[in-house]
This record gives sequence, structure tokens and C-alpha cells, in this order.
Amino acid sequence: MILGAHEGIAGGVSRAFERAEQDTAKSIQIFVRNPRGWASKPFEPDEVERFRSEARRTRMPLAAHSIYLANHAAADPELREKSWSTLADELARCEQLGIASLVFHPGSNADVEGGLKLVAEGIERAIDAVKGKARLLIEITAGQGKSLGWRFEHVAAIREAVPGQARRRVGVCFDTCHAFAAGYDLSTTEGYERTFRDFDGVIGLDHLSAFHLNDCKKALGCRVDRHEHIGDGALGLTPFRLLVNDRRFAELPAFLETEMRFRENLDVLRSLLR
Ligand SMILES: [Zn+2]
Ligand SMILES: [Zn+2]
Repeated sequence: MILGAHEGIAGGVSRAFERAEQDTAKSIQIFVRNPRGWASKPFEPDEVERFRSEARRTRMPLAAHSIYLANHAAADPELREKSWSTLADELARCEQLGIASLVFHPGSNADVEGGLKLVAEGIERAIDAVKGKARLLIEITAGQGKSLGWRFEHVAAIREAVPGQARRRVGVCFDTCHAFAAGYDLSTTEGYERTFRDFDGVIGLDHLSAFHLNDCKKALGCRVDRHEHIGDGALGLTPFRLLVNDRRFAELPAFLETEMRFRENLDVLRSLLR
């Protein structure tokens, strides 16, 4: 795994690189819009240039995370439309900055089947609107409320509903906290193996493109999204020891989202390497 973190963009997106270096991160995830609102200004051309030159200098694998306000499965057409166009805008920003992938949460809808189809439609729209290489990664969610994406079957159904050509640009991001909260017990060696066997059978490990490494504050199956520092939560160190040493995932970026103490958490992860 290429261990990194979700870095802040205060002062401009290009500032994420120096923060990552201070944290000893080797890969970076950022927001490409203001995560707390719908409005966002386009990038200044010199900021794009600075970002690209930092990316060339550091050669770190890059990902973006979509804003949390979006609901791509929303029953309300106005919210859905706003969410879909935001996703397309974020994908365009990734293309502009040279960021390989955009991670997003599918959204929520009481009608699971209908909701999953809407997410696929939003994905197809974004990919059709933004020519290029940047990919969309569906994140496994904790399944809070009516959120979709907490079963591997949901994620597979979304991917499969995207037409073939566009589907090649759709991958998956595995969040350790979310999967555990959703009921996938990866806290033991046996549970870890079962979880990824299950993932492979339902989605296919080929489509796994990134990880979010977070411990989980609450118990298995709690369906609540509360991140904890690595080793301090209900997951413990076992799954992280297995992950960092799993050769299947050696080339994949893995981002901490513990919001602070990145360096400390990265030290813990590196101490687990065999
Ligand atoms: Zn995550
Ligand atoms: Zn989360």
C-alpha cells in the first residue's frame, strides 16, 4: 500500500503537498471544492500550475474526495440534479489537476433498487460530460440511515448499471471503518479473508482502486460512521497488519481520514510492515 492521508487545502490545493510531506504521507487525497457548501470558485490558472508542478516533484498518487452534501440517489430531483452536476464538476477539476480518481459516497434513498439506478445515472452523466482518464470510485459506506453502498451488492449493482464504455472509469474505494460498521468483520484473520473473498466474489478485486484506513469508534455492525485512530478502535491492529502486508494491495493508495495525528498513525501502520 502507498500510505497517505486526506490533507487540507487551506491556502490553495497545492498546499496539500507540503502538509503531506510533514506528515510523511506518500499519497494524498484532497477536496477539490469547498466541502461545506455548494458554491465553489474555479481554480486560478497559476494555482493549477503550482499543483501540477508539486505533483511532478513529489510523484505522489493523488485522489480527490467528493463533498458530503451531495446525494446522487436523492428522491428529490432538485437535490439530485445539484449533486450530479457537482460530481461532474469535481471530476472536471480532477482532470484539470491531473488527479487520478474521485472518491464519492453513493447517497441515500429509502428505495434501494431505484436509488442504486439513480447513482449509476449520475456516474454516467459525469463521465460523459468529462472526457479524459480521471475515474470515479464508489466508496463502501457505513450504512447510516438510508445510505446506500454499505453492501458489496449495492456497489456491484451501481457499477453494473453503468454502460460498458463508461464503466471502465468506475472503481471502488474500501473504507475499513465503514465496512466494519456495515457489518463486515475484518477484525480477525479469518474475518479479513472472508471479507475480501466476499468482495472479490461480488464486486471483483480488480475494481478495488483505493483504501481509506480508519479504525472504528463503534462496534461491528453499528451502521455509524465514526473514525478512530489506527489501533485505538473496535478494529484494532490485526486488519491493518494484514492490509499493509497484503501483496494484492501493494500498489494501491491508502488514505488516513482520522483528521489529525496523521504522522503518528502512519508510524503505527509502518510499524506493522513485515
Ligand atoms: Zn472514507
Ligand atoms: Zn467515514
